[in-house]
Amino acid sequence: MICRVCDSTRLDPVIDLGNQPWCNHFLRREEVGKEPFYPLKVVHCADCETAQLDFTVPKETMFGDHTYLSGVTRSLSQHFQQVAREVNQRFFSQHPDKTVLDIGSNDGTQLKHYQKLGWKVLGVESSKGTAQLALEQGVPTRNVFFNKSTAKDLRGLFQVINASGVFFHLEELHSVAEGIRSCLAPDGVFLVQFLYMQKIVENGAFDQIYHEHLLYYNLKTLEKLLQRHGLTCFDAYLAPIHGGSMMAFVQHRDGPHASTGREKAILAEEERKGSNRKDWYLNFAQRIARMRRANIETLGERKSKGKRIYGMGAPVKGNTLLNYFQIGPDTIDCLVEKNVLRRNLFSPGMHIPIRMENEAEIAPDVYYVLAWNFKHEILKNHADLLARGVEFLFPVDPDFVA
Ligand SMILES: [Zn+2]
Repeated sequence: MICRVCDSTRLDPVIDLGNQPWCNHFLRREEVGKEPFYPLKVVHCADCETAQLDFTVPKETMFGDHTYLSGVTRSLSQHFQQVAREVNQRFFSQHPDKTVLDIGSNDGTQLKHYQKLGWKVLGVESSKGTAQLALEQGVPTRNVFFNKSTAKDLRGLFQVINASGVFFHLEELHSVAEGIRSCLAPDGVFLVQFLYMQKIVENGAFDQIYHEHLLYYNLKTLEKLLQRHGLTCFDAYLAPIHGGSMMAFVQHRDGPHASTGREKAILAEEERKGSNRKDWYLNFAQRIARMRRANIETLGERKSKGKRIYGMGAPVKGNTLLNYFQIGPDTIDCLVEKNVLRRNLFSPGMHIPIRMENEAEIAPDVYYVLAWNFKHEILKNHADLLARGVEFLFPVDPDFVA
């Protein structure tokens, strides 16, 4: 294999999470046990320092029919609202006829916030069902994969291009970057929101490693990719969503926006911490193995006391965790979930059944919270259960920073 960013062949294995099923496809009963498994291994490029997966599940498998809805979580919707307001006020408050393109627009949650501010919007979403949902809610959406050639069909320049998360899922990396460059207005802002690898490591959030996430960027490695395509970052900050999401503001290399200096401070911090170095990832791998031992021990102890354990939430990333920890239905009776698209399905690999929140008849003694990054929202929403003595276990603690 060659590096997805710089074409180098000098790739060193750093984190191995074994063979795992594609985690974003929850199984129907007849599919249980038939799902294929693929290697889930992170390698580090000795030349450009980008951490990345060494194996690609075909994108048609990965994005044809996903069941993730961004509108479901209130804190995520609030985050998207703040983003739209900030971009509008900082860069385009006086601009007439402003247009925003959202790549991987999901159910249109992000674009609805721009619409409220008077923007023309366009979403590109590869999942058919999800694109349909957005259309039904009045958000113009194209059901295609975004790349250099589909970008041409959009016929226009956008003041803002938004890509939250998905930009880094895509195997056609350079084609996507070229597509973005070609339809970004000369004074345009490309806002990349991505899981910040330095923070993932510091938070112990190894469950963010899954087949959809082909690349794990820090700001330094992102900038190397952008530079290759005539783009550059002029501002960046870390938002708390998803346990640490980097907001990078990008423009054409000769664009008009002045650097705020914040991006330079982040780059300096990466240098100081060594978070682009191979040994940083090797240390992380050791820590993940320790977390596995601790989690298995805690759950085993509750189980030996006859406690009933349910999983809370069935997030995609929870499947990395369950499969790597090898926690199955003999430990966790079911995963309790709000997203109706996952009703009566089973978790891939470990085959834990999913129940809807309002259908779970008996409260468990213990909730094992797979959506651990929403810890505060979850504890607040379930004050009644806490008062009744239900224990909430967080496999990864978002308040803990190593
Ligand atoms: Zn490289």
